[in-house]
Amino acid sequence: MNALFDPRYLTRNILIGMALGGVIGTVLNQMGATAENPGFIAGELFQFMGDVFVRSLQLLVVPLVLLSLIVGTASLDDVRKLGRIGVKTLAFYVGTTAVAISIAMGMAVLFRAGAGFQLNLESSFSVQDSPGLRTVLTNIFPKNPFAAMAEGNMLQVILFAILIGIAMCLAGKPGQRVLAIAQDLNDVVMKLVVVLMMAAPFGVLALVGKTFAVQGFSTIAALGQYFFLVLAALLLHGFVTYGIILKVFSGLSVKRFFTQMRRVQLFAFSTASSNATLPLNLENAEHNLGIKRSIGSFTIPLGATINMDGTAIMQGVATVFISTALGVELGVSGYLMVIMTATLASVGTAGVPGVGLIMLAMVFNQVGLPLEAIGVILGVDRLLDMVRTAVNVTGDAVVSTIVAKSEGEFSQEIFDAEEPRWEERA
Ligand code: ASP
Repeated sequence: MNALFDPRYLTRNILIGMALGGVIGTVLNQMGATAENPGFIAGELFQFMGDVFVRSLQLLVVPLVLLSLIVGTASLDDVRKLGRIGVKTLAFYVGTTAVAISIAMGMAVLFRAGAGFQLNLESSFSVQDSPGLRTVLTNIFPKNPFAAMAEGNMLQVILFAILIGIAMCLAGKPGQRVLAIAQDLNDVVMKLVVVLMMAAPFGVLALVGKTFAVQGFSTIAALGQYFFLVLAALLLHGFVTYGIILKVFSGLSVKRFFTQMRRVQLFAFSTASSNATLPLNLENAEHNLGIKRSIGSFTIPLGATINMDGTAIMQGVATVFISTALGVELGVSGYLMVIMTATLASVGTAGVPGVGLIMLAMVFNQVGLPLEAIGVILGVDRLLDMVRTAVNVTGDAVVSTIVAKSEGEFSQEIFDAEEPRWEERA
């Protein structure tokens, strides 16, 4: 019984929680639970446990991003480094997303996704107008930092934190004093991440249990080709592409990297939210991957906001699948257009469950596919969302590791270390 709460077994316990959730959820589903009528266990108990767990991690997102980024920026020995880190990080984020979607579309074309599939267009989906570039850029600048924090507008919070960090760097003694306080506060909030993770096995059990109870697998059978293609592309990108990129650009051990990332991936899978996973990814980057705070505090939150390779993969396969099923020829220029729009759409996708599908409307709109078709793949989206979120957060960590290594802001010792006791972290 004690082992259930022993932090040394946390990863194992999360896995057990996940498996138990899967089994209980499937049983409930077989006993007749549906999304409309989930019953007490899935609809009340699991829902309650899952909500409380996810909300308690979400509450850490804004304070943690703000504090760690202020500390990270203020402790840079040279503020000019920031520009170089920024350019490098953005280049990797956009580059990996473009590779992801190209793989997805390549596989979908190769396997003739959607050929012979009968489309039944009845549900309605509306498109969000994409704002112009000027509006997007203007909106990164917060008018009121408190409003930005209250709304959870991450890009605005990131910019505010960087500016304050730079000012602290330049302010001499007062800057040093504020930095010491921010450092202490940051350590306290990080500690809270560790404390809350103790509840992860139970939270994960509830989240997975609820999903499996109301999902049902019959939809997967009907959309098997689409489902397994997206899954295969996600796994290929998540393990092979990232493995190659990590090896080529950092020379680090790929196996070690994935061992150190296990818990973050499991957590992203269960919550289907990059945002809720952000505190853990940030903590893990520093204490398990050896990424120094000066880099991780910037690259990880930025990635959680704009880097969504898994989402782009789903969008790539979905576009080919639907266009082929409808007999619409997109042609090379159409495909290039999809690569561009899906890359941008994944930048604009918020890290919460299911948003990728909403942003797919933007891609469909761009290439003239009917938005109602999105309803067709809705039924299998939740499970794919779980996997693509795990890919999304892994991408953030891969790029952060590469950037940290190239800047010399990386600790090989932490990267190589067997896990420190969980309660001693932070
Ligand atoms: N759930 C995904 C995430 O949080 C976004 C999506 O593709 O829907 O990363």
